[in-house]
Amino acid sequence: MMYDVIIIGAGPGGIYSAYELTRLKPDLRVAVFEAGKPLEERRCPIDGVHVKTCIHCASCAIMNGFGGAGAFSDGKYNITNDFGGSLHEYIGRNQAMDLMRYVDQINVENGGGASPLFSTAGTKFKKLCMQNKLTLLDASVRHLGTDNNYIVLSNLYKILKENVEFHFMTPVHKIELADGGYRLYTDNGEYECRQCIVSVGRSGSKWMEQVCHDLKIGTRSNRVDLGVRVELPAVIFSHITDELYESKIVYHTEKYEDQVRTFCMNPRGIVVNENTNGIVTVNGHSFEDESKKTENTNFALLMSKHFSEPFHDSNGYGESIVRLSNMLGGGAMVQRFGDLERGRRSTVKRIEEGTVRPTLAATPGDLSLVLPKRILDGIIEMIYALDKIAPGTANDDTLLYGVEVKFYNMEVKLNEHLETCHPGLYVIGDGSGVTHSLSHASASGIYVARRIAGQ
Ligand SMILES: Cc1cc2nc3c(=O)[nH]c(=O)nc-3n(C[C@H](O)[C@H](O)[C@H](O)COP(=O)(O)OP(=O)(O)OC[C@H]3O[C@@H](n4cnc5c(N)ncnc54)[C@H](O)[C@@H]3O)c2cc1C
Repeated sequence: MMYDVIIIGAGPGGIYSAYELTRLKPDLRVAVFEAGKPLEERRCPIDGVHVKTCIHCASCAIMNGFGGAGAFSDGKYNITNDFGGSLHEYIGRNQAMDLMRYVDQINVENGGGASPLFSTAGTKFKKLCMQNKLTLLDASVRHLGTDNNYIVLSNLYKILKENVEFHFMTPVHKIELADGGYRLYTDNGEYECRQCIVSVGRSGSKWMEQVCHDLKIGTRSNRVDLGVRVELPAVIFSHITDELYESKIVYHTEKYEDQVRTFCMNPRGIVVNENTNGIVTVNGHSFEDESKKTENTNFALLMSKHFSEPFHDSNGYGESIVRLSNMLGGGAMVQRFGDLERGRRSTVKRIEEGTVRPTLAATPGDLSLVLPKRILDGIIEMIYALDKIAPGTANDDTLLYGVEVKFYNMEVKLNEHLETCHPGLYVIGDGSGVTHSLSHASASGIYVARRIAGQ
């Protein structure tokens, strides 16, 4: 079976490359191979009643399938070069911004128009942050919300299926060079294409490493981010979240001059468990639907860890720390900030007596037994710094959930066209190590599609 272009992976990277390719060149024969299911069939069996923990489905409904890892996410499309990836280092800052705005336009036209666009431009919080040794990063963010994100993805699928052949539940096992093109091996047979876009995200990281090894494509190890998710009454941060929704704030610790940053802010949202390769970490969600909003806001505080010789496995290090928390807590752990400061574990009673109602049922415990001292010291320092711009952040009853971790793929060696050393073989999105956000992954898809279409 011969195609002009095969796209591997139907996450944001794959979806937007298919969208742009078929818009610019509707006559091209394009196929998408996706390890997971169509969007409407993606359902995680964990319901908290009958199924409480991961049962390791053949295809993980949270990470795999149409929409990729972002399908049930909060749908925050951050339009910025300041975080979310290093796409601008390959294609230039202006082009990266233009492409992210273009992705936003597609989202708006396909059901995301009702979702608000927030911006840090001209905000008084920049000065307030500076006065308190904090840096507010520049960004605009379209917050689709989990519900609208689903609608946009459904609408995009309706458009794409007219011109693109989708092969769901069909992981690609191997890529081979073949007569100036590529041959792909799946359980359903072999397929050939002239050009190939690989967009396999985080869930495809191990496979991507194998492909790079087989095809002698260079790689470089990346970092891991570790920390906690903070949950507090929404009113404490409302003066910031009402205006900016998502604020990325960076703090340089006094003790070690490390960098700690806020990540993924969910005003009036919920803290959730996330299952990555069988280990339970924490994350956050929020909804546009008023009836689903809570009284709490949550956000992560993270610190990046890079490793040098002889250790390369930054993700392995992160996994080990999470395993430790899972061992002690049987899953995610929660601790009152006041208990952490007093050097004692939290108990069910202490959490119940607190003023913050947890939105996730996690095991009360002691995060100092899990997180390395330097990371925990940095987090505590930042909580006190945030307390100056949002008084109440450092209250005793503020909840800290652990462990929040952000794994990164190793970086694939690519040229300025996001092309490997093999002409016509492109690697985009989070699987390339170049991006780690919805906007950057989507923009990388548009960029490569335009290159293939000769635009
Ligand atoms: C819970 C959660 C919340 C998030 N919230 C946000 C947010 O609000 N804002 C933000 O910017 N980012 C968010 N992210 C990150 C964001 O989802 C990712 O950055 C983005 O999805 C990356 O897109 P991608 O296309 O590169 O990869 P993915 O979305 O991971 O898609 C890759 C696809 O490839 C498929 N695949 C893998 N291997 C193969 C194979 N061998 N053959 C065929 N198919 C394969 C997978 O099944 C998957 O569907 C969140 C992530 C999670 C998990």
